Amino acid sequence: MTETHSYRQLPESIGVVGAGTMGSGVSQSLAQAGYRVVVVEPDAATAERARGAIKDGIRLAALLGRGERAVSAGAQDRIRWADRLEALGEVGFVIECATERQELKEQIFAELDRCTPPDAILASCTSAIPIAGLAARTGRPGQVLGLHFMNPAPLKDTVEVVRAPGTSDETLDIAARLLDSLGKQQLVVQDGPGFVINRVMMLTIVEAAAAVSDGKADAATTDALFERCLGQRMGPLRTADLIGLDNVDDTLTVLREHTGDSRYTPPPALRDLVAAGHFGRKTGRGFHDYS
Ligand code: NAD
Repeated sequence: MTETHSYRQLPESIGVVGAGTMGSGVSQSLAQAGYRVVVVEPDAATAERARGAIKDGIRLAALLGRGERAVSAGAQDRIRWADRLEALGEVGFVIECATERQELKEQIFAELDRCTPPDAILASCTSAIPIAGLAARTGRPGQVLGLHFMNPAPLKDTVEVVRAPGTSDETLDIAARLLDSLGKQQLVVQDGPGFVINRVMMLTIVEAAAAVSDGKADAATTDALFERCLGQRMGPLRTADLIGLDNVDDTLTVLREHTGDSRYTPPPALRDLVAAGHFGRKTGRGFHDYS
């Protein structure tokens, strides 16, 4: 392997767009590693919830003794909160974690291109939206990539890094060093709908939900088959509840639209839960009950 070194320094200040499940976890990871973080979340109630989640997360990390990074003092004070992207005028790197809607993310990338410094790198935590389309909304496609963090972000050690056709080597190098500074490893994949993880995992979730819809087994039995027979840590429906069934539904829409593959259609068991507002862990109920 040829060694490529970029001597460009890692940014001190990083922007995070959206403070839901992923944005709050990513912000926590960054603050614990010593970065100054500017979080943009337009919804005041979500921002308030995220502040609480980050506080609890930092406390939990300290209890678990997850290395020096986890207990680094003042992590919370390094986070600044804002409700508009204009607050990102001085960051060197942005990790976009907004709702999984293509049009919304395209607008956000176009706006980030206007309001961040020209050399800032723009990453998306999207589950499935091809990065090239987001990069095309900017005048800096070489500085755009996918950083598909896993959930919960502070506890998961490896990130699916997505290289779009235009992503530069320097951008990949800086992203790799940033992840390394968070104590995370990376696996780099090429761009495409759902990348690798969700191209595969969403089909598993759909089939598991279809097995429930078809009356083959209830959700508890379906997950137990994967957990007890196959030794997986979490069955597909419990995984879907952790992701958020609203997000799973949005991700399936993206995959259908980009691939034309009808296998990414939510079966009735999933559709009904989403329609009823039962999004999984975050609402206390999904395929399983968390109350
Ligand atoms: P979420 O619904 O919990 O949070 C999304 C947040 O984005 C909300 O708080 C919303 O108010 C905010 N938002 C909406 N429009 C915005 C805007 N214009 N500017 C700033 N913020 C805005 O969703 P999530 O589960 O955190 O997912 C976020 C992204 O990460 C999605 O692209 C999702 O596909 C991806 N992802 C999710 C998971 C998971 O397990 N949930 C895992 C990996 C990646």
